[in-house]
Amino acid sequence: MLDTLTRRLAGILANLRKQGKLTEDDVNEMLREVRVALLEADVNFAVAKSFIGRVREKAVGEEVFASLTADQTIIKIVRDELTEMLGTEQTRFDFGSQPPTVVLMCGLQGSGKTTTTAKLAKWLVAQGKKPMLAACDVQRPAAIKQLQVLGEQVDVPVFAKTDGSSPVQIAREALERCKYLMRDVLIVDTAGRLSIDEALMAELKQIHDTVRPNEAFLVLDSTTGQEAVSVAKAFHDLIPITGVIFTKLDGDTRGGAVLSVREATGVPVRFTGVGEQVDALEPFYPDRMAQRIIG
Ligand code: GDP
Repeated sequence: MLDTLTRRLAGILANLRKQGKLTEDDVNEMLREVRVALLEADVNFAVAKSFIGRVREKAVGEEVFASLTADQTIIKIVRDELTEMLGTEQTRFDFGSQPPTVVLMCGLQGSGKTTTTAKLAKWLVAQGKKPMLAACDVQRPAAIKQLQVLGEQVDVPVFAKTDGSSPVQIAREALERCKYLMRDVLIVDTAGRLSIDEALMAELKQIHDTVRPNEAFLVLDSTTGQEAVSVAKAFHDLIPITGVIFTKLDGDTRGGAVLSVREATGVPVRFTGVGEQVDALEPFYPDRMAQRIIG
C-alpha cells in the first residue's frame, strides 16, 4: 500500500522542522511529493504539472514558508484546488420542456454501459419518472438480452427488435412507442465499441441526430486510466456529451482518470458506478473524489 500524501508531507515536514524556518526549496520538495502522488493516482502528466503550478502560487500567497503546519496548508490547498477542478457546479438533469426526455448512452464495450443504463432507469424511477429503455445494440445479440433481463429487474419496459432493423430505425420507433405509451424518459442504449471504430461512431452520430437527446452520457471505466481520456475526447468530438459516468469506482482505483477527463473535455461528471448491482449508482461528489486522489 502506498503512503498517503498526507503522511508523506508530514514526514518531510518532521525532518524540516528541526531546521526551523522553511525555505522555498523545502516547499518545492513538498510539491514534488504532491506531483508524484498525482501521477501515481493516474493523473495525466500535463494536468499534474499545471496543477502544481497553481498550488505553488497559492502556497506562496498563503505564506506557507513561515508556517510550521505547512503540510496541512498544502494538503488543504491541494484538496480545494482538486475539488474546484473536478467541478463544483451543480449540473441538474435536463428533462427538457416536453416529455419524453431522451437520454443517449454511449461508451466502449465492457465499460459498464448496459448495466449503467439499467441503474439510471432505476434512479429515474426513484425521481418519480416512468422511463423506457431502447436496445439499439444490434452488434451483440447478447446485449439485447442483457438489457431485457436488467429491464425486468428494475421493472422498466425495454423496446427491442431483432428483425434486422437498423439501430437508427429502432431508436426512431422506440421514441414513437415511448410517446404512445406516455413513458416520460427514453434511455437509448447504443452499441458498445471495442475501440474507436469509424462505422460504429458514424452510427452513433446518426442515432444522436435522429433522437436529439436532452442528455448524452458517456460511460467510462475508471480503471482504464489514461485511455479514458482519449476515449472521452473521441466521443466528445463526435457528439456533444453532456455528462460522464465513471463506473467501477468500488474498486481500488485512485481516480486520477476522472480529473484528467474533466480537464481534457470540460464535461461534468454526473454519476459514479460503485458496484455491479442496479442500485449501485451515486451522484458525483467532487470533494470525495479529491480526497480519494490525494489518498
Ligand atoms: P457494456 O459492455 O459497456 O454494456 O458493459 P456491461 O454493462 O455489460 O458491464 C461490463 C461488466 O462490468 C459487467 O460484469 C458489470 O457487472 C460490470 N460493472 C458495470 N458497472 C460496474 C461498477 O460500477 N462496478 C463494478 N464492480 N462492476 C461494474
